Amino acid sequence: MTRDSWGIVKQDLKLKVGHNNFVTWIEPLEFGSLDDGILTFRVPSMFIGNWVSRYFCDQIIDEANARGAGVRRLAFVVGEPANRPVPCNGEPDAAPADKAPAPARTAAPASGMTITGARLNENYTFDAFVVGKPNELAYSAARRVAEGGPVTFNPLFLYGGVGLGKTHLMNAIAWELRARDPGARVLYMSAEQFMYRFVQALRDRQMIDFKQIFRSVDVLMVDDVQFIAGKDSTQEEFFHTFNALIEQGKQIIISADTAPGEISGLERRVVSRLQSGLVVDLHPTSYELRLGILQRKVEQFRDQFAGVRIGEGVLEMVAHRITSNVRELEGALMRLFAFGSLIDRGEVDQEATRECLSDLMRTYDRRASIDEIQRKVADHYNIRISDLVGPKRTRIYSRPRQVAMFLAKEFTDRSLPEIGRRFGGRDHTTILHGIRAIAKLCDTDSQTAEDVDMLRRVLRDI
Ligand code: ADP
Ligand code: MG
Repeated sequence: MTRDSWGIVKQDLKLKVGHNNFVTWIEPLEFGSLDDGILTFRVPSMFIGNWVSRYFCDQIIDEANARGAGVRRLAFVVGEPANRPVPCNGEPDAAPADKAPAPARTAAPASGMTITGARLNENYTFDAFVVGKPNELAYSAARRVAEGGPVTFNPLFLYGGVGLGKTHLMNAIAWELRARDPGARVLYMSAEQFMYRFVQALRDRQMIDFKQIFRSVDVLMVDDVQFIAGKDSTQEEFFHTFNALIEQGKQIIISADTAPGEISGLERRVVSRLQSGLVVDLHPTSYELRLGILQRKVEQFRDQFAGVRIGEGVLEMVAHRITSNVRELEGALMRLFAFGSLIDRGEVDQEATRECLSDLMRTYDRRASIDEIQRKVADHYNIRISDLVGPKRTRIYSRPRQVAMFLAKEFTDRSLPEIGRRFGGRDHTTILHGIRAIAKLCDTDSQTAEDVDMLRRVLRDI
């Protein structure tokens, strides 16, 4: 058998095992060799090898032999072929399995079983969470749940794009609940860890223990639940665990990167269960929130990097220019501090910031010119460009004009006087005023926030 003929066998297997099993377990198998009747695969982790050898061994051998391969048994190696293969028949031995990079995998004790959740991050507390318009609903809901007491929203479903604070809020809830009641059994884990535990329990024939442990917690938190989409048996188990806990009035908190109904590959009944409590989202950050977060983080970094000073206007510049998510914002600030600690005076000014963060901030530069911004904004508000930059002061022109100024600041490297010149020769203080006005409106007026978000998307796609 060759790599190519394995490709054919794989297609046969796809029909046999079904799409989901195929994607999860068969697809990751990389043909290694066929020697003396032993078909060896390279696998990304021994966990996958063990699982395949337990549940798909016979089917793989049958299909391979139906194509005349003459396979007697399977073996799996992790990554490099030099690793010790795990035999397919009989119990996979423990040693290589322990090397598997399965996250937070714990060996099952001989009697009974323990499940510990993921380690909580001590920096992820409510105190350290900066609240602004885009996240205040999620924050308040999290706070309410963390107070304990009678369960009000069950489940609490938090969703939002990457790096917007879902994991932070969940950790904060866990810390708070533990502080209020040290005896409370609060289990926090990622959906991925849930799946590993589940699979491990199946493998070790400890499903009863598994069920019992999950059903005896007071609060269950599962992070990034989109991970189990398409993983049928895990989903099934999750659903049962979920129902059992809800019926007992235990609190459940779930996070995902999109709304429940938008996670593809999630069964309808799971979706409707997830929707049955309170669903809140974390919106993309606003300028004000980003600035607030940066100011807070500067305080935190100050001890770590004594002597480093952040120059005037730097935080504003970073908040304007790095808009993707909070994680990236933190990374940028960290870099500035590291940079500051390497230079003599220790002051990081705007010039140094531009240089130091050029890769993060450059992304917009070439993509939108002031001309393009003006054109898109005028289109969006259905006004003429001459009116956008002209002298008329009525709201229908002045608001779009300010939005265009705001975006010009965000998307280009132009100074305020330069922007002023491009907007009918206005003074730089007028531009500054316009930018500030829009930044503020983004936080208080949802229509403006939507307009700006939409235009940002349009401009990014240029
Ligand atoms: P997610 O789980 O939504 O991908 P995280 O919770 O991991 O995002 O957040 C990414 C980083 O940003 C973390 O270091 C977190 O502490 C920080 N962060 C996110 N939102 C805030 C906020 N509102 N205030 C302070 N830090 C935040
Ligand atoms: Mg997360």
